[in-house]
Amino acid sequence: SAWMCALWRTRNSHPPRVLWPKLCVCDNLNEIDCGIMEKDPYAYTPVSGWETYNTPEHAEAMESLARRYLEFLSECKTERETVAYVQRRLRDAGYTEEHNGGAVVRPFRGKALFAARRGTLPLTRGLHLISAHADSPRLDFKQRPLIEQPGVAQAKTHYYGGIRKYQWLARPLALHGVIVRRNGERVSVILGEDPAEPVFTIADLLPHLAQKQNTQTVTDAFEAEKLNVILGHRPADKGAEDKDAPKDAVKKHVLELLGRKYDITEEDLVSAELQAVPAGPARRVGLDAALLGGYGQDDRICVFTALEALLSADAPQHTVGVIFWDKEEIGSDGATGASSRFFQYCVEDCIAAWQPEARFSEVMLATRALSADVQAALDPDWQDVHEKQNAAQLGYGACFSKFTGSRGKYGASEADAEYVGWLRGVLNARNIPWQMAECGRVDLGGGGTVALFLAAYGMSVIDLGPAVLSMHSPFELSSAVDLYATVEAYKAFMESC
Ligand code: MN
Ligand code: MN
Repeated sequence: SAWMCALWRTRNSHPPRVLWPKLCVCDNLNEIDCGIMEKDPYAYTPVSGWETYNTPEHAEAMESLARRYLEFLSECKTERETVAYVQRRLRDAGYTEEHNGGAVVRPFRGKALFAARRGTLPLTRGLHLISAHADSPRLDFKQRPLIEQPGVAQAKTHYYGGIRKYQWLARPLALHGVIVRRNGERVSVILGEDPAEPVFTIADLLPHLAQKQNTQTVTDAFEAEKLNVILGHRPADKGAEDKDAPKDAVKKHVLELLGRKYDITEEDLVSAELQAVPAGPARRVGLDAALLGGYGQDDRICVFTALEALLSADAPQHTVGVIFWDKEEIGSDGATGASSRFFQYCVEDCIAAWQPEARFSEVMLATRALSADVQAALDPDWQDVHEKQNAAQLGYGACFSKFTGSRGKYGASEADAEYVGWLRGVLNARNIPWQMAECGRVDLGGGGTVALFLAAYGMSVIDLGPAVLSMHSPFELSSAVDLYATVEAYKAFMESC
């Protein structure tokens, strides 16, 4: 069999040489056996990020990135909070809503955002665009949420996106969102994050009384109409004149408390967007702290890494852009979702300011895009739902998905081989670990991203994002080295020509 030096594989610095026996004659090492022997120069195996970034400099940079990412995740639990964070960082970096500075940011209804840095090449050479989504699965309050049931006042919810309902029971929840008064005033709500504040929760059935439930399917056992968030327990005080406690006294008390805190009435909740999300900060996981655990990593890890790349990339040749969408988890419809015209309007405004003679179609057809979304990591305990050779592994860098969709690639956007080849070259040239995967076994798995909405413009687009374990759960897991490798990959893409 053939052997080669690992330096060739990682640096691509000289053509493969078939060597026999285990001896490397490597240009870089003056014909000295470098001692790192690898089997078979013709075979391909993905490279672990932990191997690639195994130096103190990388470790330090990785550590500081992970720290800032956990702060971001802890602070940004809704699409509005995420867009506000991105807006703040871009404003601090000199981005304005005008196009004259060459660094433009366009927030949209506080839920979506486009930003671009003008390159040295004309727009007709295309943008290098990274798209991610800022919304995550959660429990939305209904528009008339408040009810009283024995012993408690609760908020009724309508879940948003694909959740496994049982994961939301018997755990601390926080309340994030806005309430809009009828005069248009907007009240921001964050309750249950400060350790001094109370949290909220949904009670679960005790095992002693769950015998019938235990025999049901998961779908039947957990009903959406039982996902009622406990808001209070103590009844309102009786008035001095009253003989009996008021009707729905606990709910009345909750309304009094909300009224006192936010100066609102029950009717104001009709024009509110209140989201019950997991309470508490994102955390490191494992003795080695190498995993990052927290809510909303699908897809805020891609928002964060794309933003980091945009802010740290060297002056680009192509104009680089990021677009962060809302509504991805419920099909991308709506004004702030990827199927809206918002992105088109933003690019048209860039064209009008920077290259008025260019045609929109010309710019779109030359554009290269990454649909930055997370991939399902090979689950150590559920390996059978994956086809392992084509599954994403935690720790192996950002993961390409040539196509999405399900059951025969139905509903897929599929990248051209040419585009995959070019991107692979961009990452290999910088020794950035990456992998290629699809979501689950054929006929079992599948899923969609915003890639197809970008592909509709005729641009080249492929999915690229880190693998996530426990995706869509209240506590998703990512790898610290993948976080780091993803920033490197996005930066390489932005700086490439
Ligand atoms: Mn996603
Ligand atoms: Mn998702």
